[in-house]
Amino acid sequence: MSKLFRKNVQQMAGYAPGEQPQGGDWVKLNTNENPYPPSPAVVEAIQQAATSRLNVYPDPLALSFREVAADLFGVTPDWILPANGSDENLTILIRSFCEPGDRIVYPYPSYVLYETLARIQDCQIERLLLNADFQWDEQAAQQVGDAAMVFVPNPNSPTGNRWSADQLAQLSPEQGVLVMDEAYGDFADTPHKGELLQDERFAGRTVITRTLSKSYSLAGIRFGFSVADPELTAGMQKVKDSYNCDAVAIAAATAALADQAWMLENRRKIIATRGRLAAQLRPLGFTVFPGEANFVWTQHSSGQHRDIYEKLKKRQVLVRYMKFPGATAEASLADGIRITVGTDEEVDRFLAATAEVVQELC
Ligand code: PMP
Repeated sequence: MSKLFRKNVQQMAGYAPGEQPQGGDWVKLNTNENPYPPSPAVVEAIQQAATSRLNVYPDPLALSFREVAADLFGVTPDWILPANGSDENLTILIRSFCEPGDRIVYPYPSYVLYETLARIQDCQIERLLLNADFQWDEQAAQQVGDAAMVFVPNPNSPTGNRWSADQLAQLSPEQGVLVMDEAYGDFADTPHKGELLQDERFAGRTVITRTLSKSYSLAGIRFGFSVADPELTAGMQKVKDSYNCDAVAIAAATAALADQAWMLENRRKIIATRGRLAAQLRPLGFTVFPGEANFVWTQHSSGQHRDIYEKLKKRQVLVRYMKFPGATAEASLADGIRITVGTDEEVDRFLAATAEVVQELC
C-alpha cells in the first residue's frame, strides 16, 4: 500500500461487509435485512420527495425526522442525531470523543466494525472476551476502567443475546462514553422506549444508536440515528457532515417511524418465523442459541461450518459464516453460522437446501 497513507491506515485491513449479490434468485439470509418491504407510506414519501425540490439542499438537521424519533423515546428533538446509516453514527461517535491512542473496549465476538473505526482513528482496541454463555466476567469493569469509549451491541451480533441494564452498568467507563448499539433493539423481547437514558447510572455519558435498516426494512436507504442528552448531541452535530442525510432518505425515514403498526407487524412475523427456523434446524444437527434479534447464531455438530456455508452458496442460499480468531477458547465462540430470519418461504428453501447439505457432509 502506498506510503502516502497514514501509518495506521497502511497497517489496517478494511472492514469486509457481507456479500451483496445484485440480481439472481438468491435466498439472502446473510446480512440481517428485513425480508418484508417498507410501509407503503414510505414509498409514497419517497415519491413525493423525489418530485419536489431535489435542486436544493436538504434540512441539515432533519427536523421532521427528529420530532418523530423524539416522540418514540419520550425526549425532545435535541436528543436525536440522524445519520447516513447507524454506521455513520458510530463514526461520528469515535471522531467526537476519542483521541488517537485512547482505549476503546467492546465485547468479543460482536460487531467487528468497531475495531475498524478505532483503527482509522488510531485508537487502541481492547476486546472484552465473552465466555461460552456470551457473558463477560467480573473483571470486566476493571478492564473498562478509563476507556474513552465502550461499544455494546444489544442485542449482540452474532450471538443474539441481550444484556440487562444491570449488566450494562458494569461496563460504564469512569470518564468515557458508553455506546449502546441497538441496531436490533426493536426485536428484543421487551424493547425499551428510552428509559435507559433516564437511569442515573447512564445519564450524561451514554449514547443509544438505532438503525432503520433492520426493523423498518430500509437497508437500501441508509438511515440511522443516535439518542443522547442534548449536550452530547450538540457536540456530535459539529462533527457530522452538514448534509449527511439526503432529502429522500429523510422523507422515507420519517414516514417509516411514523408507521409503527407496519414495523410491529413485520417484527411479529419475523419472531414467529425465528421460532420455527430454530425448531427445524435442531433435528438437522444444529445447536441454535436463544436470541432476541432477527437472526440466529448456530453451530453444527460436524463443526464443518465453512463447508456448510459454501455448499449452501452453490445452491444460491447465502448465510454468514463467521470466525472469531482469538475468542475465548469455547466451542460456541470460535466459529459458526449466523442465519437471518427471512420470510417463511425463504426459510423453507433454506431448510430444504440445508437438509441436503448436511446429508452430503455427514
Ligand atoms: N450495529 C450493528 C451491531 C450491526 O449489525 C449493524 C448492521 N451491520 C449496524 C450497527 C449498522 O447498521 P446500518 O449502518 O445499516 O444502520
